[in-house]
Amino acid sequence: MRIVFLGAPGSGKGTQATNVKAALAIAHISTGDLLREQVRAHTALGRQAKAVMEAGKLVSDALVLGMLEARLAEADTAAGFILDGYPRNLVQAAALDALLARIEQPLDLVVLIDVPNELIVTRLAGRAAEEGRQDDTPETVRARLQIYAEQTAPVIEFYRRGNRLVVVDGVGDMAAVSARILAALRIL
Ligand code: AMP
Repeated sequence: MRIVFLGAPGSGKGTQATNVKAALAIAHISTGDLLREQVRAHTALGRQAKAVMEAGKLVSDALVLGMLEARLAEADTAAGFILDGYPRNLVQAAALDALLARIEQPLDLVVLIDVPNELIVTRLAGRAAEEGRQDDTPETVRARLQIYAEQTAPVIEFYRRGNRLVVVDGVGDMAAVSARILAALRIL
């Protein structure tokens, strides 16, 4: 099964992707995690991405697409994958469709994990305190939420119009949300 998880920063996408990956035995591809690895490894890509990520802005479409294409060529994606954090704008959504058509692995479904904005802000403040992520400072969080509203929200409409979107209520405890997602994927 090939799935995209959409949701605001702090919607629980990453956690849910980890749970659903285990339930479906498919790969979990987080472009944020891939980028953080590049930053840690001080690669050329990581050096280019670091400041952009710390500012809460989007890394260039071409860089992320190249990285994603390389990841999708790895063997563990053959059984399927969850994309977490990609696409983040309409250019990426179109590029993803083109790439997946080329490798003959079209998407089955897009899952939007829906969490109200007030709760997102509270959750991100909690995560900043717990995990100390460089990009969870108040200014960066504001920038990321603004980019989400301006650039990523249109991606939701893109998939809705294409009849590929399911919306799952992301409020509640982690296990309850996972169960809703698995039900939406019709495997519960
Ligand atoms: P995430 O872990 O998904 O919240 O991503 C952390 C940061 O990595 C984002 O704020 C962006 O700077 C960058 N990033 C992750 N995925 C993408 C993407 N698809 N396009 C551009 N930048 C991305």
